[in-house]
Amino acid sequence: MDTPGNLFIIAAPSGAGKSSLVKALLELDGHLAVSISHTTRAPRGQEQHGREYWFVDEPEFRAMAGRGDFFEWAEVHGNLYGTSRAAIEARLQAGEDVVLEIDFQGALQIKQLFGHAVLIFILPPSWAELEQRLRRRGEDANGAIGQRMANAREEVAQARHFDFVVVNAVFETALFDLKTIVHAQRLKYSAQQRSKAAVFKALDLL
Ligand code: 5GP
Repeated sequence: MDTPGNLFIIAAPSGAGKSSLVKALLELDGHLAVSISHTTRAPRGQEQHGREYWFVDEPEFRAMAGRGDFFEWAEVHGNLYGTSRAAIEARLQAGEDVVLEIDFQGALQIKQLFGHAVLIFILPPSWAELEQRLRRRGEDANGAIGQRMANAREEVAQARHFDFVVVNAVFETALFDLKTIVHAQRLKYSAQQRSKAAVFKALDLL
């Protein structure tokens, strides 16, 4: 699908710092909008319906999937997650840039539909640092950390299928790397052909 807006997909194992980086990126860049996913998992802490996620039950999620309402959906750690067409299609058509914070399965599905989607994987600097971050976060019991580390190994192995990797050792450096990727994508010839179609037409380039 060809749209004037760019689509950035960011994946990472939990604890790599993805959510904080995406939050900071959005604060710096007013032309980026994040897509709100649907999920069957229960809200955590202060999470609100329509802010972090659209929280739905499994029958509702499966009905949406059956109707083809999702661009992609996947089971992640025992819950269902999906990106609805409504969440991104209109924005991309209107020339807005959209960020999806989704898992690698969803990222690879989207790449099939949007050839120009930019896939970015955030890596921790080491396994030891990832484990420490998960422990510091303190959301999980010991067993759950073991499970998250095992999941992380599977997820990190998928980084090779992505266009870019950002190693999040120092937050500010990783944020700068992310900004650079977004900026470079916007400057690509093919991206500007889509985002600045009128200029290209006037210059006989379209
Ligand atoms: P959490 O439950 O911790 O918010 O998210 C768990 C995982 O599900 C994360 O890797 C997150 O990026 C992923 N995820 C969130 N929304 C979506 C989505 O719409 N589709 C897919 N495939 N994964 C998602």
